[in-house]
Amino acid sequence: MPRRPGKLSTERSNRVRAILPILKKTYPDSKCSLNFRTPLQLLVATILSAQCTDDRVNIVTKDLFKKYKSAGDFANAPTEELERDIQSTGFYRNKARSLRAMAQSLLDQHAGAVPKTMEELTALAGVGRKTANVVLGNAFGIDVGIVVDTHVTRLSQRLGLTRHTDAVKIEQDLVPLVPQADWTLWSHLMISHGRAVCQARKPNCPQCPIFKDCPSGAVLIENGTARPAVE
Ligand code: SF4
Repeated sequence: MPRRPGKLSTERSNRVRAILPILKKTYPDSKCSLNFRTPLQLLVATILSAQCTDDRVNIVTKDLFKKYKSAGDFANAPTEELERDIQSTGFYRNKARSLRAMAQSLLDQHAGAVPKTMEELTALAGVGRKTANVVLGNAFGIDVGIVVDTHVTRLSQRLGLTRHTDAVKIEQDLVPLVPQADWTLWSHLMISHGRAVCQARKPNCPQCPIFKDCPSGAVLIENGTARPAVE
């Protein structure tokens, strides 16, 4: 017999159900903020986005994607030249190594094409579950998981949807709560809300559109962490 959901998970589901339409209405254009036209470009941009802002990655990829158009171009790029081309995204030596290795495994295993499954993507050199989720959700429209970044982590905790700090465990908590068709969008909405209102320091709880459904808002105002109602 299937187990009935506990009180906590029912509360969490109800909270997600209340929050989701409000956030969709508040951020109707919420989408992946990395610029890309092909799955390969998104894979490259996502690898470059580690420890770097999406804005900076978009500046770098504007020229990068004109120069490197295929997996072969990345795999065969002279290391120092590729490092120079991505230098301003930081950690460029590691990233250049990851890009070349990832591109080589695309050539070796998939004739240069980006595969469409979590198993195949995470088997590529330098590609973890988060990167695979980004590519599957945004380049292929396949919702197989929820991307957990710093915004999703912080908001999931403040919204009382998880007690975990580890990305894999947070994703496991979110997956049963969020409708599968909204898994990719959920991350974008959390990122939009995290940037606009629920920042790490001084969240704007008094003007937050989901204040009434958030278990942390009143507490953060009370203890002085949130912005005061009138500044
Ligand atoms: S009420 Fe405050 S803590 Fe809760 S989601 Fe809004 S800004 Fe974030």
